[in-house]
Amino acid sequence: MPIYEYQAKDHAGKKACAHCRERFEFIQKMSDPPLENCPRCGAPIRKLISRFSMNVDMDSRAKEAGMHKLVRKDKGVYEKEY
Ligand SMILES: [Zn+2]
Repeated sequence: MPIYEYQAKDHAGKKACAHCRERFEFIQKMSDPPLENCPRCGAPIRKLISRFSMNVDMDSRAKEAGMHKLVRKDKGVYEKEY
């Protein structure tokens, strides 16, 4: 079964627990609907692109090097993706 990664939508906020503040992995069937809430604290979560389906590209290399990438989420709002 594939492993999906989730993270709290508000992972910088106080709603997220230690489990969902950082990425966590969840194994589920392809046919299962994606989780919408943290199984521990119930905070809203979002599914991340599985690392297994990602290409080994600059992003993962930068990640391995401990670099951070800022992703533009909204007008003038940047979020640290990792
Ligand atoms: Zn949680």
